[in-house]
Amino acid sequence: MNMEKRKPSKRKLKVEMQQQEIEVRIRNFNEVPFGYSEEQAIEEAKRCLQCKKPKCVEGCPVDVDIPAFIKLIEDGKFDKAAKKIKEKNSLPAVCGRVCPQEDQCEKVCILGRKKEFEPVAIGRLERFAADWEAEHGTVKVPNTPPPTGKKVAVVGSGPAGLTCAFDLVKMGHQITLFESLHKAGGVLVYGIPEFRLPKKIVQREVDYIRSLGVNLRVNSLIGKLYTIDELKGKYDAIFLGTGAGLPMFLGIPGENYNGVYSANEFLTRSNLMKAYLFPEWDTPIKRGKKVAVVGGGNVAMDSARTALRLGADEVYLVYRRSEKEMPARIEEIERAKEEGIKFMILSNPVEAIGEDGWVKALKCIKMELGEPDESGRRRPIPIPGSEFKFDIDLFIVAIGTRPNPLISQTTPALKTTKWGTIVVQEDVPKTSLDRVYAGGDIVTGAATVILAMGAGKEAAKAIDEYLKKK
Ligand code: FAD
Ligand code: SF4
Repeated sequence: MNMEKRKPSKRKLKVEMQQQEIEVRIRNFNEVPFGYSEEQAIEEAKRCLQCKKPKCVEGCPVDVDIPAFIKLIEDGKFDKAAKKIKEKNSLPAVCGRVCPQEDQCEKVCILGRKKEFEPVAIGRLERFAADWEAEHGTVKVPNTPPPTGKKVAVVGSGPAGLTCAFDLVKMGHQITLFESLHKAGGVLVYGIPEFRLPKKIVQREVDYIRSLGVNLRVNSLIGKLYTIDELKGKYDAIFLGTGAGLPMFLGIPGENYNGVYSANEFLTRSNLMKAYLFPEWDTPIKRGKKVAVVGGGNVAMDSARTALRLGADEVYLVYRRSEKEMPARIEEIERAKEEGIKFMILSNPVEAIGEDGWVKALKCIKMELGEPDESGRRRPIPIPGSEFKFDIDLFIVAIGTRPNPLISQTTPALKTTKWGTIVVQEDVPKTSLDRVYAGGDIVTGAATVILAMGAGKEAAKAIDEYLKKK
């Protein structure tokens, strides 16, 4: 490539991705954006400056060689672009769709620093390359090195476990991946809805990892089927990537009424248990007409937009801070608003009111923002006497999750924090137990897909180093 002759395009804004019309998409579960065509991808790739010191790579938690894969797209070498990404990222079609690029690679993209210029649409290009590779059947199973004879148990098949298993199997180790649910993928299958991440894409990535030789055992709850001590007797090393899937509640009166769900249950019923495909699937789920969702993260947005697609007429998103402090991805906030979700900011529920055992109304109090708290965001303070109430028939609580305590309860020597997350060493992701490593939400608390993947990668490296020394 002759770098001097190459002139990046002068286009200021990202090439738009076409998407379903709003009035259509709010009543179906199909994916909202359609993705780039080949021509659109090339046009967007031409915007990249091919920086000598690309900041975007520093912003990527798994170190993808971003300018290199973008250049391959620009040159029409789409399968090579996908392979370049996969050198570092085992789930590119997933990351291209759900990673918060606006806070990572795209945030630091040098093009985006120029006045009036948007950063390169790195996420959209990543998604394009991964989808192109899958659609054109060019996915090839790489050669793995000769077996090392070492056995590793990976517990939990979310992004952390899948990545750890993927890296370790490529190093020649024998991997068994234990998953308590009947499907692999973690939050990618039970939490994030079909309209944001089609499940066939997750399945495609899981199948790929299995094709490398990973032995997936679903319906296998560790802590019940085997304890960690029992696993230690069978495997040379263990990775715990069990996530933070236990929902938290507000602790307000009325939360036990019928028609009050944790976001976790609501989304699991809809996504994993396919309630959205009624009548082909008959998983029961309450379809509310007037719905309130409390929370301001991706989980709250997903719950609100799912409730809408299940037939709600009005969906209120109740959040105690202002929109600026919402932790959800900007893109998801915008889509939720476009779809008609009503944002009730600076408000907090204080009571769920019921009748004949079912929730009928929500009482909230208005909030104002004080000084920043330990999270760095301004602390919400209730305004005395500002209570108000409105009718609802479905209430979804999406205020956060924490780890399920099963493994720590059955493994007393495993050191955990007061929040139930597993403690690992600072230099290596090793737990207080010999030969047991951990990463992802189970260590950090609820975070992001790419951070969980980065943790799985780091643990695989540490486990490999340990096994080599053994
Ligand atoms: P998980 O994905 O939670 O996977 C853990 C797996 O371990 C699960 O499959 C669980 O069943 C299994 N498991 C648990 N205990 C056991 C046991 N004892 N034995 C065997 N298996 C066990 N992040 C983003 O980056 N972008 C987004 O847009 C985004 N949206 C989200 C939307 C929702 C609704 C939710 C809930 C989260 C979202 N996140 C998003 C966060 C992201 O999905 C998580 O941070 C990420 O999945 C964590 O990965 P993990 O592998 O650590 O855990
Ligand atoms: Fe391209 Fe932006 Fe990365 Fe520079 S920082 S190489 S412009 S994506």
